[in-house]
Amino acid sequence: MSAFDYPIAPHTRKHGPVGYATYAAYRPWLRDDFTFRCVYCLAREQWGRVTGEFGVDHFQPQARSPHQALDYENLLYCCQSCNALKGNADIPDPCAILTAEHVCVKADGTIEGLTLAARKIIRVLALDSESCNR
Ligand SMILES: [Zn+2]
Repeated sequence: MSAFDYPIAPHTRKHGPVGYATYAAYRPWLRDDFTFRCVYCLAREQWGRVTGEFGVDHFQPQARSPHQALDYENLLYCCQSCNALKGNADIPDPCAILTAEHVCVKADGTIEGLTLAARKIIRVLALDSESCNR
C-alpha cells in the first residue's frame, strides 16, 4: 500500500456540459468530474475553499488550439503548480496515462513511470520532485 495511488482505469467523465461563454464557467463541472483533485499530482483541494490554487487547464493549449478553448473534453482540473509546469507543453493525455497501469507509486511516495508516456508526464510536471510539496 502506498501513500496514494493513481486510478486503476482511465478517467471517464460524468458530465459533458456545452455552451458556456468562458472556460472558467466549466469549473464546477470539472471539480466534480475530477473529485476536487489535481488530475496530475492528485493533490486535493482544501474542503470548502475556492481559491486560485486550483484551476482549469487546457489540455490542448489555447495558444495552439483556440477552437478547443471551450471544449469540455479538452479541459482538466489541476493545481496551480501543475498548470504552471505544464504550460504549453505537448504531453500525453493524463486521463488515459496517469493510471496504475502506467504509474507506480512507491511506499515512500515517490512515483515511477512504467511507460514512456507516463515518464514524459512525470518529467514535464516534475511529479517525482522531492522539493515538490504538493
Ligand atoms: Zn497538481
